[in-house]
Amino acid sequence: MAETPRLKDDCFALPEGTHWTPVAEALAHLKAHMRCVVEPEVLPVAAASGRVLAASIAAKRANPPYANAAVDGYGFAFVALGAGPHALPLVDGRSAAGVPYEGKVPEGQAVRILTGASLPEGVDTVIMQEDVRVVGGVLHFEAGLKAGANCRAMGEDILAGAEALPAGARLGPQELGLLVALGVAEVSVYKRLRVGVLSTGDELRQPGEAATAHQIYDANRPMLLALLAEWGFEGVDLGVAPDDRAAVVASLNGAAEHCDALLTSGGASAGDEDHMSAVLAEGGRLNLWRIAIKPGRPLALAMWQGMPVFGLPGNPVAAFTTALIFARPALGALQGQGWNVPQPVLLPAAFNKRKKAGRREYLRARRQADGAVEVFASEGSGRISGLAWAEGFVELPDEAMEVQLGDLVRYIPFAAYG
Ligand code: AMP
Ligand code: MG
Repeated sequence: MAETPRLKDDCFALPEGTHWTPVAEALAHLKAHMRCVVEPEVLPVAAASGRVLAASIAAKRANPPYANAAVDGYGFAFVALGAGPHALPLVDGRSAAGVPYEGKVPEGQAVRILTGASLPEGVDTVIMQEDVRVVGGVLHFEAGLKAGANCRAMGEDILAGAEALPAGARLGPQELGLLVALGVAEVSVYKRLRVGVLSTGDELRQPGEAATAHQIYDANRPMLLALLAEWGFEGVDLGVAPDDRAAVVASLNGAAEHCDALLTSGGASAGDEDHMSAVLAEGGRLNLWRIAIKPGRPLALAMWQGMPVFGLPGNPVAAFTTALIFARPALGALQGQGWNVPQPVLLPAAFNKRKKAGRREYLRARRQADGAVEVFASEGSGRISGLAWAEGFVELPDEAMEVQLGDLVRYIPFAAYG
């Protein structure tokens, strides 16, 4: 049996020397060190929705598997047509989908044929029924049809044996349809990565509970679990750890038993009550990444008993942003998807903004009906309403920049992380 691949204990250690790590460098480091940690399993295609292929898949049969008609109409040999108008006697019988015409259609004659039906021997061209008249068993139509019209050639889409999908592809509805069409019944896919989600903080309350003025509802856990579900991972709800070291240790130990990776939020900086980073520093291989990004506080990356831990900031806007920018591609790589970072599209700005050099900025943004992109009124990272308002990020580069109305800016829809 193949050994479960493991990540190295120091896989999150950044090269020394940089104080604030640029986003691109942080991503390059993750890309170089994350690799698949889950085993493959064989599933029926219909049960593999959302999974990632462990091996490339070859077509078991061609698509289409046989030459067939693209319309309802009449088929014949093009070579026998004269100058037109045309009059071809019809043979008895017809070719329907799944019930082919068994005989040969003689040159100069035509056969009734329906969409998806095999082209009978002697037929290479089909005319739509809307373009003909049938009188007394004879088919009449005007000149002008092209050879091969309204026919689909065998294998014109994909040939048997050709690669249909590469290893690492995620199976969505379209991929399932393709595989079944190509005669594939079972696929080797990676087991879903089990990703724990743990909130931390004495101030956290659960939905429905009473909260005093000094307490906060635990927004991050349902938000992160919903993101994981959208991305095709198996989220494991680990609840809340209070601001207490022993409790945090117990939560991490429990997570390591059941999870392949862990997302925590809160307690990741270096404050008095930042127990997550303190505990990880003592018992795990902690690397506190100070990334030149807004929004975002230090990101705590650690190995705990062989389990990679992504310690996200507590602030929901920063937790959401760093989950998409850093955790999403890393988790994909851990689940065999390879490294995928969505490509921004360039859209005209519906805003003005000036930024300083030194950090990359992710503004909450959405497309307007006119195709330009607008940004949320406030950049304050405590504004959770901006997350719900937005449909994506505008990504502003590390360098200083002045955006004026109509300038092209980089827009990344949240859905592109899916
Ligand atoms: P921390 O990183 O623990 O200092 O938290 C930073 C801020 O995020 C504080 O205002 C916390 O109350 C808030 N916060 C931490 N965890 C959560 C959570 N799960 N849901 C909502 N807000 C949170
Ligand atoms: Mg806290």
